[in-house]
Amino acid sequence: MVDLKGQYAQIKQEVNDSIQEVLETTAFVNGPKVHEFQKNLETYLGVKHVIPCANGTDALQIAMMGLGLKPGDEVITADFTFAATVEVIALLNLTPVLVDVNPDDFNIDIEAVKKAITPKTKAIVPVHLFGQCANMEALMALAEEHNLYIIEDNAQGIGAKYTNSKGEKAMSGTIGHVASTSFFPSKNLGCYGDGGAIFTNDDDLAHIIRGVVNHGMYERYHHDVVGVNSRLDSIQAAVLNAKLPHLDTYNNARKKAARAYNKAFAGHSKIITPKTVNNCEGICDTCDCHVFHQYTLKIVDADRDALVKHLNENQIPCGVYYPIPLHRQKAYVDSRYNEADFTVTNQLVKEVLSLPMHTELDQEQIDFITKTVIDFIDNN
Ligand SMILES: *Cc1c(COP(=O)(O)O)cnc(C)c1O
Repeated sequence: MVDLKGQYAQIKQEVNDSIQEVLETTAFVNGPKVHEFQKNLETYLGVKHVIPCANGTDALQIAMMGLGLKPGDEVITADFTFAATVEVIALLNLTPVLVDVNPDDFNIDIEAVKKAITPKTKAIVPVHLFGQCANMEALMALAEEHNLYIIEDNAQGIGAKYTNSKGEKAMSGTIGHVASTSFFPSKNLGCYGDGGAIFTNDDDLAHIIRGVVNHGMYERYHHDVVGVNSRLDSIQAAVLNAKLPHLDTYNNARKKAARAYNKAFAGHSKIITPKTVNNCEGICDTCDCHVFHQYTLKIVDADRDALVKHLNENQIPCGVYYPIPLHRQKAYVDSRYNEADFTVTNQLVKEVLSLPMHTELDQEQIDFITKTVIDFIDNN
């Protein structure tokens, strides 16, 4: 699904030099590389505060702790996503409220969010799934109206730009009250281990969060709040610092691969290619409305699972993200949920198929993949 080896080969010297600096200085924890990366990412995103941490799951949890969410507070999030989002809500004894998603962009359904808001609702966590932003304009309006926090789960969307109805653009993860991201190796900006970060433009919240990530300490050995220990280590920051200047190039390579896939599948009645939304049509060269963390098709009126098997037999990696809706996961089942409220997710789990998507895909590979998919669907 990804080609980390091929990518590393292109930037080997820069990465090795950056890691070597850490080794020479032995500043393995909270070294200058971490601060440097933080500043560079703040500049890249145009956000006031980046707070590095250990991984994307911690980032979500810390964001919620920083906002002071309390047991019993309801937090609305999407049913069709990776479990990390709902997991941290449950871990903090907040009440997860899962809602359905849109059939086109797979992101949280605004009408479903509206229906789910109660007097106990305190926050909404949109996940910018597969690299495209949720409808942030509508979410920010709801937040304003109901006095809620918006926590963007930007683990899959780093580098994407969101365009609102007035044509104004902003980087994903800089629009809500706070955002989280992950630097897991396969993410669009990946390190060589685990890493994550929280972003916010709110000075007070940034201050609180800087203490939360560090055992609730604002002054050495004074613990004002219950915190956690969640750090981005210096070697990972060194890798990220070397890779950040390439992020736009990487995202452009993903978009180019997505365009090539789209072209090959265009007009096929059983293969539905990804849609771009949010005041953006097509996969333009000039904007970054979608950074294709995943390239996800919908396979309709055909046997998706047989196709998965066939691709695997032909040494083509592929993935079903996600095969089970969160509301049906054992850990998160709840009698409050009603199947009729999850018709889109229930359908998507049967239809979605993600093809290899990374920065090193070439036309020959794409031709082989698309031909294998189309031949199988046309002949079965
Ligand atoms: C990867 C991911 C996470 C978790 O990130 P980790 O760094 O693996 O903890 C959270 N949310 C989404 C949507 C993700 O894709």
